[in-house]
Amino acid sequence: MNAPQPPDYLARLNAEQREAVETLDGPLLVLAGAGTGKTRVLTTRFAHLLKTGRAWPGQVLSVTFTNKAAREMRERVAAIIGQPADGLWLGTFHALCARMLRRHAELVGLTSSFTILDTDDQLRLLKQVMDAAGVDLKRWPAPGLMAVIQRWKDRGIVPGKVTPAEDSDYANNRARGLYEAYQQRLRELNTADFGDLMLHMVEILKTHPEVLADWHRRFRYILVDEYQDTNLVQYYWLRLLAQGHRNICCVGDDDQSIYSWRGAEIENILRFEKDFEGARIVRLESNYRSTKPILGAAAGLIAHNTGRLGKTLRAGRNDAEGDKVRVVSLWDSEEEARMVGERVEQAQRAGQNLDEVAILVRAGFQTRAFEERMITLGLPYRVVGGLRFYERQEIRDALAYLRVLAQPADDLAFERIINTPKRGLGDTGMKALHDIAREQRIPLYQAAERALPGLRPKPRQALGELLQGFGRWRELLGRDGHVVTAATLLDESGYTEMWKQDKSPEAPGRLDNLKEFVRALGEFENLAGFLDHTALVMENEENATAEKLSMMTLHAAKGLEFDMVFLPGWEEGLFPSQRSLDEGGEKALEEERRLAYVGITRGRKQVVISCAANRRIYGNWTSSIPSRFIDELPPEHVEVVNGAGQARQRAAELPGMFNHAPMMARRPRVSESPAWDVKERAPRPDAMRVGQRVFHQKFGNGNVIGVDDDKLDIEFDKAGTKRVLDRFVEKIG
Ligand code: ATP
Ligand code: MG
Repeated sequence: MNAPQPPDYLARLNAEQREAVETLDGPLLVLAGAGTGKTRVLTTRFAHLLKTGRAWPGQVLSVTFTNKAAREMRERVAAIIGQPADGLWLGTFHALCARMLRRHAELVGLTSSFTILDTDDQLRLLKQVMDAAGVDLKRWPAPGLMAVIQRWKDRGIVPGKVTPAEDSDYANNRARGLYEAYQQRLRELNTADFGDLMLHMVEILKTHPEVLADWHRRFRYILVDEYQDTNLVQYYWLRLLAQGHRNICCVGDDDQSIYSWRGAEIENILRFEKDFEGARIVRLESNYRSTKPILGAAAGLIAHNTGRLGKTLRAGRNDAEGDKVRVVSLWDSEEEARMVGERVEQAQRAGQNLDEVAILVRAGFQTRAFEERMITLGLPYRVVGGLRFYERQEIRDALAYLRVLAQPADDLAFERIINTPKRGLGDTGMKALHDIAREQRIPLYQAAERALPGLRPKPRQALGELLQGFGRWRELLGRDGHVVTAATLLDESGYTEMWKQDKSPEAPGRLDNLKEFVRALGEFENLAGFLDHTALVMENEENATAEKLSMMTLHAAKGLEFDMVFLPGWEEGLFPSQRSLDEGGEKALEEERRLAYVGITRGRKQVVISCAANRRIYGNWTSSIPSRFIDELPPEHVEVVNGAGQARQRAAELPGMFNHAPMMARRPRVSESPAWDVKERAPRPDAMRVGQRVFHQKFGNGNVIGVDDDKLDIEFDKAGTKRVLDRFVEKIG
C-alpha cells in the first residue's frame, strides 16, 4: 500500500509552508519576506483546522489586512463545509472589535446601538469640547489634540492612566483633561471613535474576567496577517485573547512595516517570542510572486536599511527570468501620466487584463494626473483605499440621514442634515436649539421637537415635516426594510430634489452616487450592518465585475499583487517624502525605503519606476531631482529608459539619474524655485461653451453639456456622457 496522499491544499505548499500550516498547537510566528506565501499559509491553515476537525468555522479568529485575503478565506471555508460560510470572525482589527463591542457596550457606558464616528465628526466634536473648556482654538488647533489622543488610544491608554512619561504639554498641559471630557462626551452621544473600538474592548477584557473567559471558550485558534504593522493596543487585544488556548499564529515581514505613523510597533515582532513562551518560528525563503530582476531590485534597495532582522529571498517561480525593472525619467507629471497611459494601452492590446495593473503612489494628490489620463483614454480605473465613495458630500449627507434614523440621539448627524436642504433655520435658530439641548441635557433631535412651536413659520413648517417624516420612515423601516426606507427618505426629505434643482455639472453624478448608495444598502441585511460597514469600509468595490486598472497609495497596496506595477513620482521630496523626513529623520527614511520595497515587491512581471523633472505641488511648480532610492537600485536589475519629448533633451542634466554609483555623496534638497522656468499654460482663447459641437479622437462626435475649467462634460452621440480634457477635442460645425 502507498502512503496516503496529502490533501490537495497541502500539496500546493512547499516544505516550510507545510510546516507552518501543520504546526497547529501553540504559538507560531512566520517571519518571511514579500511574496513568500505568508498569506497563503494563513488561508490554508484555516482550511486545515476545519478539515482536521480542530475547530468549527466560528471558533477561528482571523485578522486580515486586505479584503482579498478575507474573501479567499471565506471561499476556502465555504468549499470545505459545502455551503456559504456565515458567522466567521474574519476581518480587520477594527471591524472585529466593533462586532465584539456591540455585545458588551454597556460595560463601557454605551448601548449596543452605538454609532462609530468618522474623523470629520471626531474633529467637530473635539472642537466643541475644546471650545467649552475655553481653549484658544487658534493657538491650539484641534487636529493637534486629536493626534495626541489617537496616540494614547493606539497605546491602550485610557484617560485615568496617562503616566507622566506619556503625558503631553499640549494646550499648557490640558490634554489629559480634554481627553477625559471628550471621552465623556462620546459616551453621552452613545458613540465611539475608531480608536475607541480597540481601547474599549481591551479595557473590557482586562477588567471582566468572565467576559474574557467567554471569548477564550469561543476562539480556539487565532490567525493574524501583516503582524509587523500591529500597534500596542492591538497587540494587547491579541495577547489577552490568546491567553486561553495559546494557539496564535502571526505572519509578518519586518521589512514591510509601514504604519509607524499610525502607531505600529515593530517591536511587537521581537517580543512575540518573549511573551509567548515556547513559540515556534518558521521562515519562508522562496518568493513565488515576482521575477528575478524584480526581487533583485527590491533586495538591493532594502539592503540600505540598517536594523533589519535580515532574511533570504530567492525566486521560487519556474519562469522567474524576466524584464528588468524600468526607470523612466520625464519632463513633468503630465508627461509621466501620458507614459503610463501609453504603456497600459500597449499592454492591454497585448492581452493584459487591466485588473492586474496598478499605479501605486506615495501621496494621494498624485492620482489626479493619472485619473485624468485614464478618463481621456477611456480606460476604466478604480481608486482603491480610503473612504472615497463614502467621503463624497452627498454620500455623507445620506449617511447622516440614516444615522439619525437609526439613532435620533446622534447629534452630529442631525446637525448635518437639519438644514440640508435649506429649511430656513438660521444661526439664531440653530443656537436656540443648542441652548435647549444643553440646558435640558437632551439630544438635539428632542430639542428640535420642543423648540418647534416657538420657531418662525417657515422653519416651523419645514422642520415639523422633517420630524414627522422621521416618525414615518422609522415605521416604514420596521415594515418594508432598510432599502425601501432609504429610497423613500431621500425623496421625501427633499434631499434628492435638492440635487435635481442644482445646475452644477457635478449634480448628475451626485444623483448617480445616491442611487448607488441605495443599491449598496441592498447588500446588507439591515441598516445597522450597513452603517457599521460604511464607517469601516476600506475599499470601494463598485461595479466589481468590469476589468479595471487600480490606483492607490503604497500604504493601501500592502499584501496585494499585480502583473504590472507603475511606481511614479520617485523624486526627492515626494518619495522619500520631505515631510516624513523632517518629522522623523533617519528612522523615517528607513520607513520610506520599506515603502519603496513594498511597492516593488507588488509586481509579478513588470515594474516601471518613474520620476518627473518638474512637478506642480499644491499649485506651485517645483523642479525635482530623482529619488535617492533610484540610485540605490542595483544596476544589474535595472534598465534606464528615456522618457518622451522634452525629457529626452533634459535627461542628461538630471543629477545621478544615469549614474548608478552605489550612493550619491550629498544630495541637495528640493529647490522651491522653478529651475527651468516652466510657465503656467495660458488660458485657451477659444474656450468651450455649453452647446458646442465637438469631435474626440476616441469617442467621436458629441455636444458639450458642461464646462469645468479645462474639463468638459460631453454627451457623445455613440459613447454616452463622458468627462474629457478640452485639449483632446476639436470644435466642429
Ligand atoms: P506579502 O508579503 O506581499 O503579503 P505573502 O508572503 O503574503 O506576500 P502570498 O501573497 O501569500 O505572499 O503569496 C504570493 C504569491 O505566491 C501568491 O500568488 C501565491 O498564490 C503564490 N504562492 C505562494 N506559495 C506558493 C507555492 N508553494 N507554490 C506556488 N505559488 C505559491
Ligand atoms: Mg501577504
